[in-house]
Amino acid sequence: MTIGNLHILKPHKPEKTDSDGLMPCPLCGAKAFISKDVVDGYYFGWSVGCPRACINDRTHKLNEEEFKKARLTFFHLNSKEQATEVWNSRCKEAESEGKA
Ligand SMILES: [Zn+2]
Repeated sequence: MTIGNLHILKPHKPEKTDSDGLMPCPLCGAKAFISKDVVDGYYFGWSVGCPRACINDRTHKLNEEEFKKARLTFFHLNSKEQATEVWNSRCKEAESEGKA
């Protein structure tokens, strides 16, 4: 029995994404929204984030200052792909900060 070369591998945690490829909100776990914003025929780009942050219910338990820092919504992105990437990297950042 050789244990000298034993490596303990950390199991790879699969990314938990939904059918849109988005990770859930790192704070409340809600399914993230993604939308192409067109208002009165004007295109405003893509937005992505936590739907609860948009309606600002009290689920996140953040005051106004903390809410700004939390960055749970993003607007004016160029594409669905970019919006997805921006949101998922925000979620991963929150995970590595230990807040997820
Ligand atoms: Zn949330």
